[in-house]
Amino acid sequence: MTRLSLTEQDICIPAILASPTFPVMQSSSALRCLRRVILRPPLRPLHLAPPFIVEDYRPVAQDSLATGALQEKNRRAWEHMRECRLCPRDCGVDRTRDVRGACNTGLKAVVSSAFPHYGEESVLQGWNGSGTIFFSLCNLRCVFCQNWDISQRKQGWELDAEGIADLMMKLQDETKCHNVNFVTPEHVVPQVVEAILVAAKKGFK
Ligand code: SF4
Repeated sequence: MTRLSLTEQDICIPAILASPTFPVMQSSSALRCLRRVILRPPLRPLHLAPPFIVEDYRPVAQDSLATGALQEKNRRAWEHMRECRLCPRDCGVDRTRDVRGACNTGLKAVVSSAFPHYGEESVLQGWNGSGTIFFSLCNLRCVFCQNWDISQRKQGWELDAEGIADLMMKLQDETKCHNVNFVTPEHVVPQVVEAILVAAKKGFK
C-alpha cells in the first residue's frame, strides 16, 4: 500500500538514531521514548477514511418500522405539534395549522441544502461523505452562530415528509453517503421522524 504521509515513527526513529548523543543515551527517559515510539502501533495517515466496516449492521429505522415503534414515535411526535412545546420556548402554538412560534417554522420544515459533507469527523464522512441535510431557521439566537444566514433567515425550500425522504434516498442511493445527518433539527423533530418513516418504507438503511 502506498504511504501518503509520514508517521511519528518515520520522523522520530531516524532522528533519534542520527542524534550525536545516541551512543551515550543511557538515560531511562530517552530509552522510554524510543521504546514508546517503536512499540506504538502505526498512526493512521491523514486524509484516509477509517479502515473499518460495521459487520451485521441492522438499520434501526428498519427494525422500528417492522415492530411498529417508528409509526408510534411519529404519532406521538405530531401530538406535540398541536400545542408546540418541543423546545423550552414553550410557544404553545398549533403548528399543525401552520401557526409559527419563536422558531418561525410552521407545518413544514425548511431545508436549506442537502449534500455529501466532507467536513465532518472522519468516522462520519468515511469515503463518500456524510449525507447532510441542513434545516433553515432555529429556536435559538446564539450571537456567534456560524450558520446565522441559514438559522436566522428563511433560506431554502418548505418540504413535507415525502420531499425530505426523497433527499434521504438520493443521499443513500445516488451519492452513496454512509449516513444521513440532520443539522439543526430540534424545532422540526416531528417532520424528521415522519420523513424517516416515509424513507424507511422506501428502503432507507
Ligand atoms: S419548536 Fe418553535 S414553536 Fe415550538 S416551542 Fe420551540 S420555538 Fe416555539
